[in-house]
Amino acid sequence: MLAANLSRLATEYTYERAKQFTGSTFADFVRHDIAMDAKMALSLWHFDLNVKASVGQGGWASVPWLGFFDPLVTETATQGFYVVILINPDEQAIILSMNQGTTAIYHEFGQLRGREILKRRAKDIADRVPEFKKHFSEDPINLSSTAGLPAGYEAGHAFGKTMQCGDLTETGLSADLYQMLVLYETLVSRGGTTPSEVMQEEAAGKDVEETRRYILSRRIERSPRVRKQVLKVRPAICESCGLDPKRDYGFDGPVHKTPLDIHHTAPLFGLSEGETRRYKIPNDFLVLCPTCHRMIHKSDNPSDLEGLKSKIRFKIARSVASHLL
Ligand SMILES: [Zn+2]
Ligand SMILES: [Zn+2]
Repeated sequence: MLAANLSRLATEYTYERAKQFTGSTFADFVRHDIAMDAKMALSLWHFDLNVKASVGQGGWASVPWLGFFDPLVTETATQGFYVVILINPDEQAIILSMNQGTTAIYHEFGQLRGREILKRRAKDIADRVPEFKKHFSEDPINLSSTAGLPAGYEAGHAFGKTMQCGDLTETGLSADLYQMLVLYETLVSRGGTTPSEVMQEEAAGKDVEETRRYILSRRIERSPRVRKQVLKVRPAICESCGLDPKRDYGFDGPVHKTPLDIHHTAPLFGLSEGETRRYKIPNDFLVLCPTCHRMIHKSDNPSDLEGLKSKIRFKIARSVASHLL
């Protein structure tokens, strides 16, 4: 059970980390049993999440964690934003947190400046889903560590709840985790940590709700995982104009590297504020060349493939040209 095993992690970690890291059965217990408990707890959750539990790589971390990653945002703890349960072994506390990848920001900006940026983004995250302030606290968290990564987790913390081991219950934890995942999904559907002005610029003059849907659609379309899955089952040929990079440009790379785009057709229009989104692979997608892709987004109905096809003139031009030869 998740709560019981997280409590065990918090209470036994200090003792266990005094032992050798390599071959530690305790480390295996965290990586496998706790991750498995978390997956079980998510069995009814309605969208894909990657789950990972870690006690460090190559050596004991000061703060072990259990992370929940939406593949539309990130596949790893080093970047993006995600839900994480952080363990403070000194205080035997378990902290459920809406947090951010620290490593990527440290690499780009250094630790000091990186932490400022993480703090600013944490504030932006909290402001983008303000209704969750009634469930979770914006107060800073304490991980009782001076190491670089934990300091980054403290800076990147947007929202959360700190629980003492002794107070943790299975039902309480799963209710809090569920609420936090709803928050995560709401945040994703509102643009995540993308600044408003960037979203507006990309969506070019749409209203707030439309802008958010557009940004979410783009996020889905750009997800490497979605792209790979779609191209596994749909041929790498533009479904609108028939452009075939292999035939027409001699492209001979792997299929997921094709210069074609993945277009998400399922309208997100039906989703009202706060509702979560889902997509089906491959039904909700089209494979389009970049030009057809751009044009379908400019049309009134970005799901209307037949409408787009009926507007294409250059094929006619090509057949006319072949007549003249
Ligand atoms: Zn095309
Ligand atoms: Zn598209």
